[in-house]
Amino acid sequence: MDGAQVTATAPVFILLGPPGAGKGTQARMLQDAHGLVQLSTGDLLRAAVAAGTEAGKAAKAVMESGGLVSDEIVIAILKDRLADADCAAGVILDGFPRTTGQAAALDALLADSGQHINAAISLEVDDTAMVARISGRFTCGGCGEGYHDVHKPTAVQGTCDKCGSTNMKRRADDNAETVAQRLKEYHAQTAPLIAYYGDKGVLQSLDAMGEIDAIAATLSGMVKDATG
Ligand code: AMP
Repeated sequence: MDGAQVTATAPVFILLGPPGAGKGTQARMLQDAHGLVQLSTGDLLRAAVAAGTEAGKAAKAVMESGGLVSDEIVIAILKDRLADADCAAGVILDGFPRTTGQAAALDALLADSGQHINAAISLEVDDTAMVARISGRFTCGGCGEGYHDVHKPTAVQGTCDKCGSTNMKRRADDNAETVAQRLKEYHAQTAPLIAYYGDKGVLQSLDAMGEIDAIAATLSGMVKDATG
């Protein structure tokens, strides 16, 4: 099989859902289980902010306020990352698209490379539970593994189960005020994508309020069924 064929058939999955729905956690689990690459525009933007790039400088204040970074910046960052060789294995988009403009840009990008969306999976959760969920989460600075004070604590306090790092990080935008704004943006700008992908016939939904492992098993089955 040559490289062009691999790219043309590489699966594309989208995880939709409000902040705190578990997109990042589940995308990482799918990455490990199915050999797909997790593409989080939030992670790419945070890296751009940390590196002090032009895009990062433009995005920083918007991210701190809980608003959405411009389509232009986000699409450019995503397009660059999608062109990396590892993405030929297939991708799970986590936090992208978030607007109908981004969804249209993604359609055009995939059409150019002969790819299609295998499934857009909507993680359905209660808004009211999201603030509590988000305020308890933290990430390993060493390997990026995500944790939660209540739902997914580390086995040894302050030490990553996966890589042993003791460098744990909490996001600056995981505070109640910013989370409220992020939820507002989700309902205004991103929730309409559920109908968008419904109309395209690629939408799947699941109740994401339960246990992480049970949700992961359901998601894994959906990904398996929609691959190929
Ligand atoms: P996340 O890590 O997905 O929760 O994203 C954190 C923040 O990055 C969001 O609140 C937005 O400010 C920004 N962001 C991430 N992805 C996007 C996107 N697709 N479109 C616009 N802004 C984004």
